[in-house]
Amino acid sequence: MRVVKRVSSSDGTIRRVHELDDGSLVESVVIPHKTKTNLCISTQAGCRMRCSFCESGKRFSRNLSADEIIGQIDDGLDVDSVVFMGMGEPLDNPHIVEAVERVKKEKGIPSRKIAVSTCGLCDRMKLLLPTKVNIAISLNATTDEQRSRIMPINKKYSLSILKETMQEINDSLPSRRRLQIEYVMIKGFNDAAIDAERLAALVPKKSLINLIPVNSKKEHYQPPSQETIISFKAALRKHGFICYVREPRGRDVDAACGMLAGK
Ligand code: SF4
Repeated sequence: MRVVKRVSSSDGTIRRVHELDDGSLVESVVIPHKTKTNLCISTQAGCRMRCSFCESGKRFSRNLSADEIIGQIDDGLDVDSVVFMGMGEPLDNPHIVEAVERVKKEKGIPSRKIAVSTCGLCDRMKLLLPTKVNIAISLNATTDEQRSRIMPINKKYSLSILKETMQEINDSLPSRRRLQIEYVMIKGFNDAAIDAERLAALVPKKSLINLIPVNSKKEHYQPPSQETIISFKAALRKHGFICYVREPRGRDVDAACGMLAGK
C-alpha cells in the first residue's frame, strides 16, 4: 500500500489517502495536538453499516487485512495514540483483534492509548475486552425510532439490547477505564433537552460522553447552535457524567468525523 494523497487542513490535521494493492482507497487522519499526535485509521474500504450521516457508509468493497490496518501507522510518524474510527466498522472485520494486538506489540502503543469505535455490534463487542483498549460506542440517538432512521444497525440490535450490552461491557472494564459514548448532534433531530435526559438514562453511570456536532454536507444535517450544545452538555454533567464537546478537526479538507470517503 502507498499514500497517494495528502491534504493539510488549516488546523494542522492531515488527511491521507492510501491505495491498497488491489486499487482500493482508504483514509487515515493525522491529528496533531500541542505535544502529541493522534492517528485515526480505517478498518474497511467503505462500510456496510450505512449510517446516514457518514460518507464512509455509502459504499463497501472489502475488509482490510491486519497488515493493511497497521500499514497506516507508518514509522515516520511519531504517534502517541491510535483510534480505530476511520472508514469502516471495526467489529465487522474479522482481523480487528489481531490488528489491535499488533498495534500494541509492533508499534509500542499501550492499550490505554488505543480506542476502537463501534456502531454497536452487540454480539461482538466483548471480543475487545481481552485487548484492554478503550471501547467507544457510536450511539447518536435515544429512541429506537430515532436511531433506526439514521443507523440501520438499530433494526438488528435495538436500544434495549444495546443498553444491556453497554452495561455488561462497562461492568467488565478495569476500574479506572470508562466506556466512551459518541453522540453525533444533529440540529432539531437529537439535540433537545429530552434527548439529554434519555441519554443519561440509557448509558452506564460512569461513561464518558463525547458530543460531536455533525459534520455533513447534507443540507438537512446541520450542527446545533453553540448554546444548544452547551446546555445539552450541562444537562449531562448535572447527571454526573464526564462530558466533552469534540471540536471538529480537518473539516475544511473532509477529514472530520463522518467525512472519510476514500477519495
Ligand atoms: S459511522 Fe462508522 S459504522 Fe456508521 S457508516 Fe460510518 S464508518 Fe460505518
